[in-house]
Amino acid sequence: MFCLNRHILYVLLDGASDRSIDELGGRTPLQTAETPNLDAMAKDGWTGSTEARTYTHDFLLEFMTGTKERVPRGLVEAFGMGMRPEPGMVAHRLSPARIVDGEVEWLYRVDDAQARLLTQSVRIHLSHLGDDAVCQFYSGGRGVLLCRHHPVNVPAPPSPATLDVESLGPFLDIVEAIALDNKGVTMLPWGGAIMSEEHQLAPVTHLDGMRVISKSPSALGVGSILGLRTELIMDLEQRFVSSLEHIIKGPVLLHVEETDDVSHRRLPWEKVTMLETVDHLMGSIPKDLSVVVLIDHGASCVSGEHIGGTVPFMVHPAPVSGPDCFSETEAGPLPLNSLCDKINCILYSKR
Ligand SMILES: [Zn+2]
Repeated sequence: MFCLNRHILYVLLDGASDRSIDELGGRTPLQTAETPNLDAMAKDGWTGSTEARTYTHDFLLEFMTGTKERVPRGLVEAFGMGMRPEPGMVAHRLSPARIVDGEVEWLYRVDDAQARLLTQSVRIHLSHLGDDAVCQFYSGGRGVLLCRHHPVNVPAPPSPATLDVESLGPFLDIVEAIALDNKGVTMLPWGGAIMSEEHQLAPVTHLDGMRVISKSPSALGVGSILGLRTELIMDLEQRFVSSLEHIIKGPVLLHVEETDDVSHRRLPWEKVTMLETVDHLMGSIPKDLSVVVLIDHGASCVSGEHIGGTVPFMVHPAPVSGPDCFSETEAGPLPLNSLCDKINCILYSKR
């Protein structure tokens, strides 16, 4: 049974944990960054570890519902972008990629000029997928596609993978046409699914009144599928400002995607700097507020891949004293599906 605390600020630091890195003297970015605010919260809070999930939406759905809900990424993001797939329409995620000799190289966050060209190309060739196919794009050339064709056997990013292009079936023509327009760079559909009863989740009453604040359609989509209020804010600092405005009315989930973005750029010191920026913003949170810091998965700022295993979390304040700093730990991992309940009860019981 879930306890209820209406004023918890959940901060999700997407992909913030990492491995030890030679360039950082054998430390992780979290261990390297100067994070006085996160460290002060750790000292005065309860820290532990839980199970990572490869994708943000899988982590959030399991954390928030307490069950292993699996809603395919295309559907989650369609909801996150306010698209409501009609019966029969399949929602796919579209990601920039290059296919060379059957090897897929995902291009994480192409620049604005290339994103514009790819977007234009998709629109020009969209009729290959039928008259009622539609797509919408967001940053980095990523998009959501709705069409009547069913999922193809395309692997999911970010890890490189092999692909037999013939298996693209009805998508082959458009994938090839986009590659021809863009010197070999194309857009691949993945995570496709049709809305069905199994994806219609019951509203989560214990998170009643929660607002999800993010720049990412995957976090916003989870909020939308669960019947929560959502707010798209691109600017990181503004996301903190809005979170503190809304915490008076109810719980807030503040999603920081920048820590994952920077990992995919594979520049360790940039990840350190980003964590310090986030820590500075954490300093704006009133000390008497109940705060939960979560990480959905690790992300290697050396290889650009997501890392499974365990991820640290922190609850502040808590009637125990914690470590001197907030960083990677494997201490007593708690199952993800009971973490929300545990956290709520710890914060509730001390009142
Ligand atoms: Zn990522």
